[in-house]
Amino acid sequence: MEEKLRILVVDDDEVDRMTVRRVLTKAGVKMELSEVGDGKSAIALLSETSYDCVFLDYHLPAQDGLTLLQNLRLNNITVPVILLTGQEDEQIAVELMKAGATDYLSKSRLSSEILVQVLRNAIRVHRAEMQVALVNQQLRQTNELLIHKNQQLEAQQQHIELQNLRLIEASRLKSQFIATMSHELRTPMNAIIGFSQLLLRPKCGELTHQQRDMVERILNNGKHLLMLLNEVLDFSKLEAGRLDLKPQIFDLSKVVNSTVQEMRSLAKEKNLSLFMQINLQNPVVFNDPTRIRQILTNLLSNAIKFTESGGIGVEVKELSENQVEIAVCDTGIGISPADLRKIFEAFRQVDQSLTRKYPGTGLGLPIIKALLQMMGGNISVESRLGEGSVFQIQLPRQISSSIQQGSDGTLSSSHTSARKNFWKQQEIPRFAQEGVKRKSRDR
Ligand code: ADP
Repeated sequence: MEEKLRILVVDDDEVDRMTVRRVLTKAGVKMELSEVGDGKSAIALLSETSYDCVFLDYHLPAQDGLTLLQNLRLNNITVPVILLTGQEDEQIAVELMKAGATDYLSKSRLSSEILVQVLRNAIRVHRAEMQVALVNQQLRQTNELLIHKNQQLEAQQQHIELQNLRLIEASRLKSQFIATMSHELRTPMNAIIGFSQLLLRPKCGELTHQQRDMVERILNNGKHLLMLLNEVLDFSKLEAGRLDLKPQIFDLSKVVNSTVQEMRSLAKEKNLSLFMQINLQNPVVFNDPTRIRQILTNLLSNAIKFTESGGIGVEVKELSENQVEIAVCDTGIGISPADLRKIFEAFRQVDQSLTRKYPGTGLGLPIIKALLQMMGGNISVESRLGEGSVFQIQLPRQISSSIQQGSDGTLSSSHTSARKNFWKQQEIPRFAQEGVKRKSRDR
């Protein structure tokens, strides 16, 4: 043992103290030795000086070794204590070990070898215990810190949950307000449309050219506003899960054909050709024809709106016995890959500025997506900036009454449809261009 140890011997018998000193010196222990003859002096010394080890005689005047040991521990003095006992005190020694003594030695067996070994062991054990105590204390502190952090997190979570509830309530009120407003606005709007239609009838009297022009503008703007109001109303109903499909058996080719014909004048106004290919072995489907018409009208009006030259194509075909696909392609401005991800989000428009060139609510595609979700269908889009876009919708031939709108309102395209879209990406722009050229030649 190289380091210099501070050792205290507590024994009222001077001869015994001398024996300990002699034996330690003989063993070559480097030390600074102190000696006291009673417990009181021992406690006083140990309170102000730190020792590496105490040799304690059990039989002390005034207070015995056990009382002294208890007092030491009570005062948080954790020094290792080696008890020196008489031959007959073995039982007492065991009791003292239980009370916190590190080891014990019979005075009759004091030899340099044994004493040094016991001393080394006591110091090693004590140091190990100190380390364990330190680690335990650190663990306790970490634990307390974690408990505190946990409490803070729980409080934060409660706060967030509360905020969330408030946001949900605010959003519900907003949706309710929008639904009520658009519903209320539809009544006067229908009156405006109805009366302007009446005014245009010859029965109501002849109008001058200028008057007719003004009434037609009132009618057209009224229809446009009604369409916007319907979009907002549909969206709020879909959001609240209050929109029901009215499925029936109908001829899909007829619905597609009549919708395309209705849009023809719009395309013509912009000098765009509009072609259609219906390749259906069996055109009969079970779905809501009004909603299918709405979806197609929306896709076609977008295609016409965002195309300046070239044309629009509509293709209907069977993917399988139970699945049909309607594709609407255009040679318009196209959509960048970054914007493609956003266009199905409500109120999202690629150009969100107030001075944007193309009007709209940004609700058309989210409504289509939600309707298709209700139908158990799917929508995907391929587009290239400056080249054009193709929107494809896949529909089950027969919709199921059990199909519900997903809570997150999202749609994912399957692996197969992704592969198919890749193929389409190579094919559709050409298909669109060629179709457009062919149709223009046919005219
Ligand atoms: P809106 O047409 O009322 O703006 P939509 O939800 O129908 O809203 O479309 C969202 C956005 O997606 C549009 O604002 C436009 O930026 C983009 N988009 C949709 N269809 C096309 C298309 N055929 N070509 C280019 N961009 C399109």
